[in-house]
Amino acid sequence: QTIGDNLDETAHQHPDREALVEVATGRRWTYAELVGDVNLVARALVASGVRTGDRVGIWAPNCAEWTLVQLATAKVGAILVTINPAYSERELAYVLRQSGTRTVVVAQEFRGRSYPEMVERVRDGCPDLAQVLVIGDEGWDEALAGAHQVSPGRLAELQATLTPDQPINIQYTSGTTGFPKGATLSHRNILNNGYFVGEGCRYTEQDVICIPVPFYHCFGMVMGTLAATTHGACAVIPGPAFDPGATLRAVRDEQCTSLYGVPTMFIAMLELLDADDELTTADLATVRTGIMAGSPCPASVMRSLIEAGVEEMTICYGMTETSPVSTQTAPDDPFEKKVGTVGRVGPHLQIQIVDPTTREVLPRGAAGEFCTQGYSVMLGYWEDPERTAEVLRDGWMSTGDLGVMDDEGYVEITGRIKDLVIRGGENISPREVEEVLHAHPDVLDAQVVGVPDERYGEELMAFLRLREGAAPLTAEAVREFCSGSLARYKIPRHVQVVEEFPMTVTGKVRKVELRERGAELLQ
Ligand code: ATP
Ligand code: MG
Repeated sequence: QTIGDNLDETAHQHPDREALVEVATGRRWTYAELVGDVNLVARALVASGVRTGDRVGIWAPNCAEWTLVQLATAKVGAILVTINPAYSERELAYVLRQSGTRTVVVAQEFRGRSYPEMVERVRDGCPDLAQVLVIGDEGWDEALAGAHQVSPGRLAELQATLTPDQPINIQYTSGTTGFPKGATLSHRNILNNGYFVGEGCRYTEQDVICIPVPFYHCFGMVMGTLAATTHGACAVIPGPAFDPGATLRAVRDEQCTSLYGVPTMFIAMLELLDADDELTTADLATVRTGIMAGSPCPASVMRSLIEAGVEEMTICYGMTETSPVSTQTAPDDPFEKKVGTVGRVGPHLQIQIVDPTTREVLPRGAAGEFCTQGYSVMLGYWEDPERTAEVLRDGWMSTGDLGVMDDEGYVEITGRIKDLVIRGGENISPREVEEVLHAHPDVLDAQVVGVPDERYGEELMAFLRLREGAAPLTAEAVREFCSGSLARYKIPRHVQVVEEFPMTVTGKVRKVELRERGAELLQ
């Protein structure tokens, strides 16, 4: 099946169920209405000259049009290039050029920046770019009005020519570890992943999913939107970008049954529930399930969510290149596995833990590089055979993440190969140290990186965000606290208390930047 065919089927089964809600404007769509609008946008795109295989960029924060364009391009077989709303002109130009984008759909403005003006400024450097559509302006209305030139029958014919293995998305990775890479994904890749992740959350047409994570990333547009459309569930957009208060109010007002976030988002929401007079954990009463993913999920955060009543909350692990999810915890997993692992491998996928240097498959229980094989593995990096060959071998995707699988198949991600700290010849996974720091009652969030050290090559530096009202925490006190749980060499030598961490828009902490900051602090 293609994404368009699947959407039509869902709309046929549940025409009157709610499909999409945009909280900021109060706009709502049933499945019948959603398909109607998706078809309209699809016909408008074709009328404006978009063809199967064309790259259509979208540069906008979360909004309903984002979803309409996503599903419309899938119906036309155009390849949606998802562009990070935080990009600078330089990054924007890189992505437009690298992907050969012909048409780009942009928001009018976001966070004080005019997107159409920014696109104009980079246009000279993007020879393929022929059309800019600005959501909500006259040009957009004109384009929609042009839809009548393409009959519904012609769209249906076009849709019928598409096949599941055609590329449908170029998703640039978060850029946590370097310059973003354009993972090219097919209908088969992301439709199946959305479906199986939704199965993992036990979704039905009764579910209402709150999606504060960005659409430009798989987390929003696959685990969110496609998990919803494959199950007849409703996708709620609480706002253009993450705001803990707006998200919690959307959960309460829309009676959401599922809530998504990267760990830092859940930390912010839990903190607000503690501090705010208006919002309380009672507002989470309707939330049954959800997904925490994207970066290491502290057991303490998962515990707090379960205690707040979200008993079926799941943790997913994956990466853009695998559509994205490879493993997921299940509601009936033992408590310790639910809070302390990323669950087991998803249906129709295989995983291996290999020695990162020899590529030998390691026995159960041994730590090594996590590799995935199966329907979810990307077609490749867009026009980059060299980098594709570095990570894709015989259908296996090398993730660059370190993991261990136990006898029952539960996986623990212990860190990224690139984040490993080597102190005096000992490998230390920052993840393990962060877990211990998280257990400190005054610590809200903790990040550990390696900083240069004359004696040991590298030393650990902990960056801590403290809870409101917490007394100042000295480095000695932190080390003292760690000494019960960590071997001496893993206890951070340096401790810095900070207000905020440098973040990617996907809500991940930019460890590269923390490492640089740490190195500077020591100079
Ligand atoms: P880039 O590849 O550009 O450096 P990125 O890898 O952060 O960026 P994504 O594809 O968005 O871009 O993120 C995938 C990565 O996120 C994984 O490789 C893994 O390191 C991390 N990750 C995702 N989920 C989890 C999880 N549940 N626990 C630990 N790490 C996770
Ligand atoms: Mg990556």
